[in-house]
Amino acid sequence: MQDLLKDYLVEHIEEEKVYFSLTCAICGNQWHSTPMAPPALCSRDLDIAPICEEAGIHNRMCPFCGRPVCLGCFEDVEGIFLCTQCAKDLRARIEIK
Ligand SMILES: [Zn+2]
Ligand SMILES: [Zn+2]
Repeated sequence: MQDLLKDYLVEHIEEEKVYFSLTCAICGNQWHSTPMAPPALCSRDLDIAPICEEAGIHNRMCPFCGRPVCLGCFEDVEGIFLCTQCAKDLRARIEIK
């Protein structure tokens, strides 16, 4: 699950710090990872496993639409944890009142 978030992480390299952002597909809020000191070498050497882990605490992939969504945009429909948009679709489909 968390590995999938990796594909959506956007790297930001600034003079003094490097951080990653992830945009929620529903509300558009941008999550930022804890800034790190820039690597001396090329950013390809950066170990992003801890960042994926951090991202996974605050964001999830919706199992329905497969988009990265912040926890605030997740909903529980009949025990299924999915994004609010898919929740709406699902509700319409199964006609939950
Ligand atoms: Zn959101
Ligand atoms: Zn969804």
